[in-house]
Amino acid sequence: MYKINENYLKLPGSYLFSMIGKKVNEYSKAHPEQEIIRLGIGDVTQPLAPVVIEALHKAVDEMGKVETFHGYAPELGYEFLRQAIVENDYKKRGVNIEVNEIFVSDGAKSDSGNIGDIFDIDNKIAVCDPVYPVYVDSNAMSGRTGSYDSETEKWSEVIYMPCTEETGFAPELPKEEPDIIYLCFPNNPTGSTINKTELQKWVDYALKVGAVIIYDAAYEAYISEEDIPHSIFECEGAKACAIELRSFSKNAGFTGTRLGFTVIPKELKCNGVSLHSLWARRHGTKFNGVPYIVQRAGEAVYSEEGKKQTKEQIAYYMNNAKVIREGLKKAGYSVSGGINAPYIWLKTPNNMTSWQFFDYLLENANVVGTPGSGFGPSGEGYFRLTSFGSYENTVKAMERIQKL
Ligand SMILES: *Cc1c(COP(=O)(O)O)cnc(C)c1O
Repeated sequence: MYKINENYLKLPGSYLFSMIGKKVNEYSKAHPEQEIIRLGIGDVTQPLAPVVIEALHKAVDEMGKVETFHGYAPELGYEFLRQAIVENDYKKRGVNIEVNEIFVSDGAKSDSGNIGDIFDIDNKIAVCDPVYPVYVDSNAMSGRTGSYDSETEKWSEVIYMPCTEETGFAPELPKEEPDIIYLCFPNNPTGSTINKTELQKWVDYALKVGAVIIYDAAYEAYISEEDIPHSIFECEGAKACAIELRSFSKNAGFTGTRLGFTVIPKELKCNGVSLHSLWARRHGTKFNGVPYIVQRAGEAVYSEEGKKQTKEQIAYYMNNAKVIREGLKKAGYSVSGGINAPYIWLKTPNNMTSWQFFDYLLENANVVGTPGSGFGPSGEGYFRLTSFGSYENTVKAMERIQKL
């Protein structure tokens, strides 16, 4: 008789987005005349840049001719893309990463969920609270998180690092020593960032206690301020303690096209064993590469035109972020984020819970956002709005909120 992986049964239901969907559906059924504005989405809405479309078309045509057809991609990804990544994302920022330290993948969600494969079950993870749920859930699936307490909404074997108003929405070094530390900056959901000096403290800490940092930099393209690091490898010593995850989803609108990469420096070693070789083995065994046409599309993002066009898309979203940030401030809200990230994190007024504020906003302004409590217990009392909507709707939403 076979057995299932019972760790899956310990997972709490993915309540957040189904609950939002249910509430919005019920409301719009009862009030069909009301126009609802959705600022809860964590997905881009602008179409792919023209140069990306051009590269896709060209690559598709190549696939149709025997001379230029491409089968399985090289295990770590095509050299043309990895070279463009090394040049543009690292060398231009003064960071020396080798082409062979880049693993092209189908996105940062898969990579952040899969990276646990190369670590023993007996490792203690530390996560920010609130957090992008994939880090915790994927560790729970492999049995690394102990048992779930629905009262506290916490796993017994996870170190939670609260990121609230009191901590400036950044984590503090944990009291209990973790083995694996997940960091995501600019942050989803809070939109916060930390500067280079602060990130250096995490690198120093990881080196001191012998921990590895999984650094999710999916939103690095949204950074607008000078002293915010785009890569953890800008910090001294990071190559000996960190893995970086990157994605084309938010920086070039590839959420539906699928492309990302992981950087594992060769000098990252655990008792003399290179993590790079373990991930190479895992990648080669369980993954058969990203389509040639998508890797060509990714290469186009790094062309001069590509950089210009994707920069415009990000500027569009960041202008929305500014509209939300300023609009909420004018309406008297306490807000953070929205400067180096497409997310605005606000404190719910009058001590409302996150869900009470969700209902209030839906019913009185017909605006949909995301309750902060859905990202972890320390998200209670907060609310996330995203700048991925249209400019017109974003402005309209703020006008409605200001009238409340
Ligand atoms: C959107 C997002 C990603 C990107 O995931 P992809 O699989 O590359 O689309 C990664 N991390 C965080 C925190 C995100 O919000």
